[in-house]
Amino acid sequence: MRSADLVVIGSGPAGQRGAIQAAKLGKRVVLIEAHPSPGGVTVNTGTVPSKTLREAALYLSGWRQRAFYGNGYRQQQSLCIEDLFRRLNTTVAHGVDVITDQLRRNGVTVIQGKASFLGPHQLLVENESGGQSEVQAEHVLIATGSRPYRPTSVPFDGRTIIDSDELLRIDRLPRTMTVIGAGVIGLEYATIFSAMDVRVTLIDGRKTMLDFVDQEIVRELEHHLRDRGVALRLGENVASIEALGDGKVVTRLQSGREVRSELVMFAAGRVGCTGSLRLENAGLAADDRGRIAVDGQMRTAQRHIFAAGDVVGFPALASTAMEQGRQAVCHAFGLSAAAVSSERFPFGIYAVPEIGMIGATEEDLRKQGVPYEVGVARLRETARGQISGLREGYLKMLVGLNDRKVLGVHILGEGATELIHIGQTAMAFGGTLDYFVETVFNYPTLAEAYKVAALDAWNRMPLRVRASSTERLKAV
Ligand SMILES: Cc1cc2nc3c(=O)[nH]c(=O)nc-3n(C[C@H](O)[C@H](O)[C@H](O)COP(=O)(O)OP(=O)(O)OC[C@H]3O[C@@H](n4cnc5c(N)ncnc54)[C@H](O)[C@@H]3O)c2cc1C
Repeated sequence: MRSADLVVIGSGPAGQRGAIQAAKLGKRVVLIEAHPSPGGVTVNTGTVPSKTLREAALYLSGWRQRAFYGNGYRQQQSLCIEDLFRRLNTTVAHGVDVITDQLRRNGVTVIQGKASFLGPHQLLVENESGGQSEVQAEHVLIATGSRPYRPTSVPFDGRTIIDSDELLRIDRLPRTMTVIGAGVIGLEYATIFSAMDVRVTLIDGRKTMLDFVDQEIVRELEHHLRDRGVALRLGENVASIEALGDGKVVTRLQSGREVRSELVMFAAGRVGCTGSLRLENAGLAADDRGRIAVDGQMRTAQRHIFAAGDVVGFPALASTAMEQGRQAVCHAFGLSAAAVSSERFPFGIYAVPEIGMIGATEEDLRKQGVPYEVGVARLRETARGQISGLREGYLKMLVGLNDRKVLGVHILGEGATELIHIGQTAMAFGGTLDYFVETVFNYPTLAEAYKVAALDAWNRMPLRVRASSTERLKAV
């Protein structure tokens, strides 16, 4: 039997970063991965494929050039699925290669097969050809991730009624598409396909989308979507889905409305991959969504077993999974690691247009009774926005009225997921509005929107708050 200081189950961002962190500490690490290629959902079916598809769609559709050349402009007149997937295959292959190399360079032993617990410290690995082996572990990191939720009421056929994993295997670009679930994944794919002239209907039982996002940003996004022909059916529940056999699928809503489309993607939720782990042999249990409970150190109910990434639930992002995996391993081997506060997690939603956010929303501040002011900049007001032909998008900065501290930044539009890190850095260092008012930004950049928003907030602030700012400026 093989033995290791750490056994990691799963090679997604949580497992991969955890394994490499342990290897850097000089530990003997075994990583067990069921999929033939390492990288998890991030590289193989989720983050990287969807973002690559987005880039391919925006390029081939000529989306970013239409402000100058008209709404009829297309980089390529007719699009086919092979055009999109060609780029995707290259990117995924590169991602797999990078991870394989990183694990090898760091001396992590990778075993291909499905892991399950035989006891709190023993794991069984079974591969598809029937081979079995056992591994003895001092510590275990469970990083098995999540998979799409597939309710039995949805007649998935992998062709016309699919989940988000199966989207990457469709054999042609549909002319019409219904997306059920206006969460991050549903919204991203709905807007990507809409950018390629697919007529999209987006359905969600909730009356509003993305309840963790600043609702002004959400309303602005909804406006853009309606404006370009996406049919939003919010507050509508699905009664049934049926493939009609003529290449069409009908989605019947409880309101009596029917939506016909060539493709239906069900993207309402994900569940933790714990079903085959035989957690009971380790004295652990998962909840009804397959998630494992952990404490602030990512420790499960067993002191030597840690869990990280999607398998522990919210926020279920590649970005946070990496850090959780690294922190879990630091705690396992007695290294201090400051728990990253979820208030400092940035969120990136790669819809078209994209969203970036950090910190409090207006709704949060109102609920907490924190006095604040808002500064807004339209991206088209910046010179870079004009040069790039941006028609949409804005940056909104929330500033505390008592101390002028930046409390939240919310961005909709081109570059939002990158730009948000400027706000994140300022907030991490306790930055105030003054920083943005005083700072010179490269010109022309979209980053200038921070300054425009800061000046906007400053101009709206009561004189007493502005006076203290001016005093400070004089003293510098
Ligand atoms: C369409 C889509 C788009 C996304 N976009 C973004 C984005 O833009 N930004 C972002 O930050 N996040 C995004 N995410 C979320 C991100 O992909 C996940 O949060 C991330 O992959 C979770 O990482 P993980 O390490 O927890 O698990 P995973 O990446 O799911 O990896 C888990 C691994 O464990 C393996 N495994 C499972 N069970 C076993 C077992 N018993 N034995 C051995 N191996 C096992 C699996 O094969 C898999 O390789 C997206 C997700 C999807 C689906």
